[in-house]
Amino acid sequence: MGRIGIYGGTFDPPHMGHICAAKAAIDALGLEELLVIPDRIAPHKTIPAGSPGPEQRLAMTALAFQGDPRIRVSDMELRREGTSYTYETVEALARQYPDRALVLLVGTDMFLSFFDWKHPEKILSKVTLGVLYRGDRGEAEAIEAQKARLEGMGHSVELVRNPVIPISSTDLRRMIVFRCAGSFLPPAVAAYIQEHGLYGTGRDYRDLPMEELERVVVSLLKKSRVAHVLGCRDTAVDLARHWGADVTDAARAGILHDITKALDGPLQLTLCREYGTMLSDFSKKYPKTLHALTGSLVAREVFGENEAVVTAIRSHTTGRGGMSLLEKIVYVADYMEPNRDFPGVERLRTLAYQDMDAALKLGLEMTLEHLARQGSQVSPQTRQALAELNG
Ligand code: FE
Ligand code: FE
Repeated sequence: MGRIGIYGGTFDPPHMGHICAAKAAIDALGLEELLVIPDRIAPHKTIPAGSPGPEQRLAMTALAFQGDPRIRVSDMELRREGTSYTYETVEALARQYPDRALVLLVGTDMFLSFFDWKHPEKILSKVTLGVLYRGDRGEAEAIEAQKARLEGMGHSVELVRNPVIPISSTDLRRMIVFRCAGSFLPPAVAAYIQEHGLYGTGRDYRDLPMEELERVVVSLLKKSRVAHVLGCRDTAVDLARHWGADVTDAARAGILHDITKALDGPLQLTLCREYGTMLSDFSKKYPKTLHALTGSLVAREVFGENEAVVTAIRSHTTGRGGMSLLEKIVYVADYMEPNRDFPGVERLRTLAYQDMDAALKLGLEMTLEHLARQGSQVSPQTRQALAELNG
């Protein structure tokens, strides 16, 4: 009888990456059957509002894998009380299928930390490990080393190359709020999420009061960026008061300016595609600078911000010719907020309250120097902004 694969995960939500990985594993490992097992989320974990319950994750997982007769979704971990440990699942399946060989699928991170799991030896006595890996540079060496270590102990490890562009569930939840997750979700799962208003899909994010906006923004940022964003907002508000700009616009542009920054280059490009935006050659070459553009699109389309705010977000990385006072304020605030620390920042902080154009010029020049050191190209918009100030 053929081998049974075991594929556990949180599936919050299940997405195309999971489906591709499952199919790749079935083919590469010659599995007769694959059991997909959504795990219990540890009770002590804080679950954000709008998250699905266990039954909803199970329902979504069933929808995601429906139609492939080789795949079965199991609720065995969801039914179990307390934390579910892999060794328990593996032992239960070994009892249930005494004459079948079992293959436990693990991702790269899990494979490399395998000996930190509870009772790794119990797991290894029941299963072969099937490792799904992307084959990125640097990854292969660590995997080979771990494989050799396990083989040295008499266990077999099989590698499955899974080169599909992965998306993490965390990024996927961001993309759902930005309304750009369509290409990553099986249609039936997307429909379920909509119907049940999961991950904030039913919510109207337009014109949120500042406190609520702050909560939403913080939930979408990487933790390491939160202090910067709040600092940028506070600095923008200070500068707006000082120079007589609209304080509310400054606060909203400040807090939203890096709203899409957590997403990598390919996801930035997905946002542009979903919003139907044409890209300049420069943006295509440097997709990381795209967060200013995609942030402005999200600010307009999702958060319903006005054009003054949208434009200030759009120009916050490169500047541009003909910047408004609000744009200059957000550009400079981003550069000098209290968490920034680099040679020259104090001079920028002083200048910002004396001469806004001089502060902007200093910021643009420092960007130019920084890019030159990196050997990166300078955006035509940065050049234009500087030419104007020098003119
Ligand atoms: Fe930024
Ligand atoms: Fe920033």
